[in-house]
Amino acid sequence: MRISVIGCGYLGAVHAACMAKLGHEVVGVDVDENKIKDLSAGHAPFFEPGLENLLKEVQATGRLSFTTDMAAVQGSSVHFVCVGTPQKKGENAADLTYVDAAVHALMPHLSSGDLVVGKSTVPVGTAARLTSIVHRACANAHLVWNPEFLREGHAVADTLQPDRFVYGVADGSEDNPAVKELDKVYEIPLSEGTPRLVTDLPTAELVKTAANSFLATKISFINAMAELCDAAGADVSLLADAIGMDDRIGRKFLNAGVGFGGGCLPKDIRAFMARAGELGADQALTFLREVDAINMRRRTRVVELTRDLCDGSLLGRRITVLGAAFKPQSDDVRDSPALSIAAQLQLQGAVVTVSDPEALENAARRFPELHYEKSTEVALDRADAILLLTEWPEYRDLDPYETANLVVDRKILDGRNVLDAKKWRAAGWTFRGLGRP
Ligand code: NAD
Repeated sequence: MRISVIGCGYLGAVHAACMAKLGHEVVGVDVDENKIKDLSAGHAPFFEPGLENLLKEVQATGRLSFTTDMAAVQGSSVHFVCVGTPQKKGENAADLTYVDAAVHALMPHLSSGDLVVGKSTVPVGTAARLTSIVHRACANAHLVWNPEFLREGHAVADTLQPDRFVYGVADGSEDNPAVKELDKVYEIPLSEGTPRLVTDLPTAELVKTAANSFLATKISFINAMAELCDAAGADVSLLADAIGMDDRIGRKFLNAGVGFGGGCLPKDIRAFMARAGELGADQALTFLREVDAINMRRRTRVVELTRDLCDGSLLGRRITVLGAAFKPQSDDVRDSPALSIAAQLQLQGAVVTVSDPEALENAARRFPELHYEKSTEVALDRADAILLLTEWPEYRDLDPYETANLVVDRKILDGRNVLDAKKWRAAGWTFRGLGRP
């Protein structure tokens, strides 16, 4: 099939490459010339494991191209909309200007029978509004909402073998012609057993925000337990192991630490609350305000613990922050807890060096005032305290004895609860975890 992918960021670039891998002829369109230049040369414009190899592999087949020219979508019968929906400045709501601009730019190129497939995360009601724009441009075109659940760091596998497909169609019916068309796009993963659910448009939009709200709630729940464990002298990691053995609860997403961040969870729960308010259902989501507050409190807590670790004052203390990305295997620093903590420490007088295997360029663009060092060894040199804030494997695997030779003071705060406290203490370190005695 001939497919267009509009918006080639973390979601769209991976989607375009994976659709070509599934055998389709794909054109990716973005307004960012540098991104298109990189992608056209077979370079991933961001770090995502496996993406660069996949781009090279599918570009060699001639089935994948990238352009800034929207006219290139002409001839494609399926158009995926993958542009960003960030938080509006100064408000909780989602900024839909990119989605609107992309859909309007696409309209002159639509042909009868085409599918416009929304993948961006949008407030419920957006798809219905866009349907009327699509129908005004081309009465026989269809709009489908097909939310994306990929995880950065696993995006290629999550796109090629997703755990489910959700198709939101106007009448919510299996017989809607758009369902058959989208089934053709996803023929391979469907034949491999990926389940798919057909819903109406608002349900499909809500599936995505509900899923992210649940995940955020689970993380904030265990972080609230960490606060209690701190107060009571208990161990949140053991508590999580024990409650996680109940399969109604499950152990995944129950790791207490610095909390969630990134380009999705924080802005999605806020946009969800804002939309619920517009719909007159704000009471249903007031708990998400607490989820957000618990999450943001983690960052302040780490700053306070670091001050404690530095004997009550951060002034002039050399602090090495390990991790800048919001999670390992990604260079995404949007709303990264690690960077936000690093910036707060610096504001309070600490001399902060941030290290990360992949995210330093993005981090330096966001917080140019911080000092960055790629080499872990150099970053740790003469540190007064170390903060592990993004659990990259190289940080999890640090040896407490070798690390001790680099620093001034053996003080470490494990913001992700991934280090073996006993081992570090045995090597003479003052060790702090979150919610651990
Ligand atoms: P991103 O910022 O990395 O990418 C968005 C891209 O859209 C950018 O490259 C931008 O230049 C481009 N763009 C903006 N306006 C455009 C236009 N008019 N025409 C063409 N291109 C345009 O964002 P992202 O992380 O890829 O997220 C995109 C959407 O997918 C968001 O709604 C997000 O919530 C959702 N989502 C993201 C993930 C993820 O892990 N990143 C997962 C699931 C869903």
